[in-house]
This record gives sequence, structure tokens and C-alpha cells, in this order.
Amino acid sequence: MHGRIEIITGPMFSGKSSELIRRVNRYRIAGYNVQVYKPLMDNRYGTDIIASHDNEKLKAIAIRSVEDILFTLEEKTDVVAVDEIQFFDERILYIANEIASKGKIFIASGLNTDFRGEPFPFLNSKRTIAELIAQADRVDLLSAVCTYTENGIKCGCEATKTQRIVDGEPASYASALVLIGASEAYEARCRKHHLVPGRPGK
Ligand code: ADP
Ligand code: MG
Repeated sequence: MHGRIEIITGPMFSGKSSELIRRVNRYRIAGYNVQVYKPLMDNRYGTDIIASHDNEKLKAIAIRSVEDILFTLEEKTDVVAVDEIQFFDERILYIANEIASKGKIFIASGLNTDFRGEPFPFLNSKRTIAELIAQADRVDLLSAVCTYTENGIKCGCEATKTQRIVDGEPASYASALVLIGASEAYEARCRKHHLVPGRPGK
């Protein structure tokens, strides 16, 4: 088998985790050895389970550092699948290519952009998921349904952005990535309805 990098990207609720789970199940049914990873910090559904918003579940190894992928990688593994890739640090760029060069399939899903609409930066880095997308052999950009509603009328267009709402209002460009104490929520939005007050150039 030839190695390759496959990226599944898009906003929240676009079906990235569902698609990752589908591909893992597909390879397993075909008799391939698959190892599945997720970042430990993302513990919304318990540490060792990837769960989609449709409530599909898959067992995963929850790891703190990207290097744990190489430390735990088994020789016989054909496919490495990683969810929420944007929460790792930039060494994932090297590791994805390293795994592909070993003749394995590296499949990762992650957000295309942050709440500002900018390419999602890896942890403590200026390098972004855009770089991994550019290095991939296959990229699928998924979309959700825009849930913006005005006067009771739903937009319903293809949503490619993630809207962050803080205390009921669109989050401003300058707001911190993590806000302690504020009630925050995320919605899928189309380009027109992705609102970022204070965005430079707007
Ligand atoms: P992601 O990993 O990209 O966040 P998931 O695979 O976890 O996506 O969930 C996708 C599911 O989210 C959809 O199949 C649907 O049931 C649900 N969902 C919730 N809100 C929306 C939305 N605005 N548009 C599309 N699907 C949505
Ligand atoms: Mg997901």
C-alpha cells in the first residue's frame, strides 16, 4: 500500500467526526489495522471515545502530545486516524508526513478556521491547518447548514464557517480563544452570516 495524507475539514457540525468514523469502520471491515487518536484536552464526551454530534462513537487513544502517535504506532498498522487535529501542536505536520512515508494512510479531521474565520493555528504556533491541507493527497471540505435566523426565516445555505456566540452576541475579533466564566456557544454559518465585529479590513 502507498502512504497518503487525507484531511477532512470544515466548520463545527459539518460531519467531520462522522466521516472519520465512517472511514475507520470501512477500513476495519476490509481487514486493515487502524489506530485511532484524539487530543486528551478535548474531553467533552469522555477521554477515550470520539463522538459525533449524531452520537456515533469510536474508541480512540487520547494523547497529550503528538509524539505519542509515534511512540504508540505499531508496525502492523495500516491506517492512522486522528480527530480534532487543530488541537495539536505544529509537530503534527512532520508526523503526518512521516507516517505517510512509512506507507501508511494518515487520515485527520479538523476545523478549517477559528471563530475569526482565519486558518486554525496549531497549538502555540503561527503555522496552521492550511499547511496540512496543502500537503494532503486528498482533502474533503464538508459544510453544515447555516442556522442564522432573521424574523423567523432560516438562512439554510451551505455553512463553511464556525460562528462563536458569547453571552448571546457574535464574539468580537479581539476576544480570547478561551473565555472563563462567559457562556459561549458555536453555530454553523455561511459566509454572509459569519459575523466577527472588529475584524480588520471589514
Ligand atoms: P463535526 O465533527 O464536524 O463537528 P459531527 O460529525 O460531530 O460534526 O456532527 C455532524 C452532525 O451534526 C450532523 O449530521 C447533524 O446531525 C448535526 N448538526 C447539528 N447542527 C447542524 C447544522 N447546523 N448543520 C448540519 N448538521 C448539524
Ligand atoms: Mg468533531
